[in-house]
Amino acid sequence: MSATLKWEGPERRMAQSTVNLDALVPREDFVAPAETSGGSPRQTVGLSDLVRGGFFQNNLRKPDFQRETTHWSPGKVVDLIRVFLDRELIPAVILWERGDEVFVIDGAHRLSALIAWVRDDYGDGEDSNRFFGAGITDEQRKVAKRTRDQVKKDIGTYAEFAGLVGQTVLDPVKARRLAAIGRESMIIQWVTAATAKAAEDSFFKINQAAQPIDPVERRILQSRTSPNAIASRCIVRGARGYKYWSAFDDEKRERIEALGSKLYDDLYKPPHKQPVTSSDQPIAGQGYNALPFVFDLVSVCNDLRIANTLTAKKVEEALPPDTDGSRTVEMLERVNRRIEQVSTDAAGSLGFHPLIYYYARSGNFLPGAFLASLEFAKRLNDEGRKDDFTKVRRRFEDYLFENKVFVSLTINRLGSGARSLTRIADLFWEIFEGFHAGLTEEKLLDRLTAKEAFVYLKAADIPPPNAELPIGKRASKQSKSAAFIREAMAHPIRCPICQGAVHSNSMTFDHDTRRRDGGDNQSGNLKPAHPYCNTGFKA
Ligand SMILES: [Zn+2]
Repeated sequence: MSATLKWEGPERRMAQSTVNLDALVPREDFVAPAETSGGSPRQTVGLSDLVRGGFFQNNLRKPDFQRETTHWSPGKVVDLIRVFLDRELIPAVILWERGDEVFVIDGAHRLSALIAWVRDDYGDGEDSNRFFGAGITDEQRKVAKRTRDQVKKDIGTYAEFAGLVGQTVLDPVKARRLAAIGRESMIIQWVTAATAKAAEDSFFKINQAAQPIDPVERRILQSRTSPNAIASRCIVRGARGYKYWSAFDDEKRERIEALGSKLYDDLYKPPHKQPVTSSDQPIAGQGYNALPFVFDLVSVCNDLRIANTLTAKKVEEALPPDTDGSRTVEMLERVNRRIEQVSTDAAGSLGFHPLIYYYARSGNFLPGAFLASLEFAKRLNDEGRKDDFTKVRRRFEDYLFENKVFVSLTINRLGSGARSLTRIADLFWEIFEGFHAGLTEEKLLDRLTAKEAFVYLKAADIPPPNAELPIGKRASKQSKSAAFIREAMAHPIRCPICQGAVHSNSMTFDHDTRRRDGGDNQSGNLKPAHPYCNTGFKA
């Protein structure tokens, strides 16, 4: 059913690729005691100040609450470098001095783009490797390479220009830019706030005016010492990067890091690639720039209200700070238990196949469908309906896969991520109850569309014109993914107990003849099965 692709607009926007410059200016705890400094601080910053080993960059910091420096496209990074070298106007950067450290209040992206150029680090260089460890994703490397290639083509590398010093440069554009490297600078505006609190307030004032911050991001920023924010950051980075939990005692720190790194692996391994050419996809997409999604995930698993553009004003204040780490550990453990209901080889895991439950036909990850599946699994568990589900699971999955357009229509109507999660979870429940009641597919659809909440599913009958992606010279990644997913899921590995699809992240091996009945451990007697079907299901 190629018609589904038309409805994936809101999700596709999430896949846009931006450059990860987050490693280039280190984060520092903003709430440490400040000493007043005297003297007369500099009024500008130039490129030579930003090279590795430079005196100025050595003390440059980002406040720990500042959003990640990952919002610029390759084009925007290249443009900033070009604008600087061509002596066009760049808005002043706003800095605040605390003791010997200099905090960037506004302008982290601008400064980081220039640092990226002088250090040749667009998210894959020396600083990024040190900061992210093994956590640099393929996507991050790909975008870094694309940025570097464009810089080479449009401007030239910093090293190239350094090699021109002392030479006669004939190309007038190059000569002018070479001179600009030594001469140009960005204006610094100093915030005169005497305390960290006042500096933080001016940060919010400045940044809200310049570009409205996403409500979820603002929640994360404002609640940076809250357990849900610490837990989210820990999961997103697989316990690497800046350690927001560094003030807790050893035991708590170890537990937080162990859980953060396990959950990262559970969610994001093996790495997601477009086009999809393997059914071995991670359960949560590509984990790149995923902080708002994980923040929602932590909220859902801990029964916290979710901030979104519709409810932003109604959401209560940030949770109180976690002073000793115990709330953060609790929250991570709750996320872990919820993930173990849908994936991993934990005993109760239903082992949902991500290509059936969480991905669009185009191969794009659907955050709303993922969170909805967590809610659906919890409800099955809480109401003691897992055995009922297992009995109709094959029909349920076939139907869901054939009618992915229902999920897409719901997202299209209500918005992506958390906004559509309750409705999708309800949809899953209705389908499950329908098959449990023995309805035919036709009767099930009648029953669904008779409900006010699902009237809009009738639109699935009307194929939108030109619903297939625009036909270009080459097949798009999404078209290739759709073809692969259609073929791969026609014959997935099936669980011998429920006949549902089995995924590599949640695979156990069922003994065809049980051990106690004399079955052996030879491969002929073993079949891949869902963990729950294998250990918990009673027919
Ligand atoms: Zn099964």
